[in-house]
Amino acid sequence: MDRISDRTIRAVRYLEHRRFAVFGFGQPKCGKCGKTKFKLNEFLPDGSNINLLAVQCLSCKTPIGVLDVRNVGRMLENHQTRIAQLERMLSDIKTGVQYISHVLDNRNG
Ligand SMILES: [Zn+2]
Repeated sequence: MDRISDRTIRAVRYLEHRRFAVFGFGQPKCGKCGKTKFKLNEFLPDGSNINLLAVQCLSCKTPIGVLDVRNVGRMLENHQTRIAQLERMLSDIKTGVQYISHVLDNRNG
């Protein structure tokens, strides 16, 4: 009788670990019908002026999640990048103004 080597067992465990690390809990399934195909559906909730994206089962339309259309997190990241750019520009302008002031002071003095 063949015996599975410890090395083989370790290799299988490693691959299972890798599969879990890459795919997490596996592909999401619809809680109602069990299907695994989904689509995004933009909608405006009553009483709101912010559109949302529902992740819905392609088969039975049951939502499994809702996303922010505007992606507020991405907007904040973009704003942070833009603010950092503006801060660098202001610093350059400040340096330029200080240089001009220094040159003018030396001319007049
Ligand atoms: Zn479904």
